[in-house]
Amino acid sequence: MKKNTLLKTRNVLNKILILFFLISFCATFSQKHNFKEIKITEPICTYHPDPEPFDKSKIENLRKSVNLTNSACSNFVVNYDGFTPEAQAAFQYAVDIWAHIIESPVPINVNAKFEVLGQNTLGSASPETLNTISGVPGIDPNAWYPAALYEKLLGQDRGEFGGTNDIKASFNSNFDFYFGLDGNPPSGKHDFVSIVLHELGHGLGFVGFARKNELVGELRSNNRALIYDNYIQNNENVSILSLPDPSVELLTAITSNNLFSNSPTAVTQNANILPKIYTPSEFNQGSSYSHWDEFVFPAGNSNSLMTPRIASGEANHNPGDITIGFFKDMGWGICSTLSIDEVNVSSNINVWPNPFTDHITIRFTNLNSNKLQIKLADIKGSLIFSKQVTYDGGDSINLNDLDNLQKGIYFMTITNTSSNLRFTEKIVKY
Ligand SMILES: [Zn+2]
Repeated sequence: MKKNTLLKTRNVLNKILILFFLISFCATFSQKHNFKEIKITEPICTYHPDPEPFDKSKIENLRKSVNLTNSACSNFVVNYDGFTPEAQAAFQYAVDIWAHIIESPVPINVNAKFEVLGQNTLGSASPETLNTISGVPGIDPNAWYPAALYEKLLGQDRGEFGGTNDIKASFNSNFDFYFGLDGNPPSGKHDFVSIVLHELGHGLGFVGFARKNELVGELRSNNRALIYDNYIQNNENVSILSLPDPSVELLTAITSNNLFSNSPTAVTQNANILPKIYTPSEFNQGSSYSHWDEFVFPAGNSNSLMTPRIASGEANHNPGDITIGFFKDMGWGICSTLSIDEVNVSSNINVWPNPFTDHITIRFTNLNSNKLQIKLADIKGSLIFSKQVTYDGGDSINLNDLDNLQKGIYFMTITNTSSNLRFTEKIVKY
């Protein structure tokens, strides 16, 4: 057992060494030719199954995908290699979900393989390259951007490096996946759509560069961090970018269990709480740093797609508002049907009293529409109730019969179903 672990560790270390050798080689090559691009040669996420099966009683609010009847906002072009028809159909379904969430005027090219991978590996993915450019509005000249996002910001396909693929993804053809599209995998099976959705999330930009190199942590490659890294800080507002690189301090930070995203839209979507990044005390290449925290966003939470593990029986067909908010701040356009640009309409809505005991009054000013969706979730993200409310022109709505709720923190989300304006408030039950 010990020998096996040691071998695995050595194997991973070797891969990391090769990865960074290749990255620095390619970057040197790029600079010589005046290119600003590095090629990723190893997957950044290696997705593993959670040994614990998912408690299906929690699944109710996770089966919902995004609305695929609207027009897509981006065009993914997938090169399928080795897929069975049912695996390809499930992959395409996950692609369609992302195409209805993010907006890009440039086709997003994905090279997808269905092949034999390590026994405990579900799949992996990464951007094909990272790119940088200066002098273009909306692009941080000091950051690396994943290829697909770079092209979105630039408004044109790149191709300087001899290829146009943007994301590469690989999934384990030996794994007994569930290929249904309904988000209802039977116990013991892993939901392929959710897994592809997760991996594409990394390929599109949910990925940071922080890593362990023996006794120090490193962040940058060729003096640049990834755009993701721009939004990472600890709970004392210290940005990861401000730490010496490489340094022991950086290693401490990325194994501190104390890093968060400060992406403003993600924070707004998380009821003004900084969403936590997965940084366990032992650095785990392929899991640490480039995921949400598994314990803060456990299976069953609506933002659990981008955590490092997925359980059998678990499904998640929507990246979640916090993740989408992070994508927006990194530079992605978001489909207007999601209206994430307009999440903060708090000036028009007020929830009172807070803390509450048995009832809540929601007050409005300048409300144009009369159909509202009111959702209440507990701190773990589990839905307590969801109500359609018709607003009759008065200036408030009362929610009664709340005395049976347990004491604690809840999140109330109010969505104007006509305009999709959304408002989330943290409320406390006494
Ligand atoms: Zn991952």
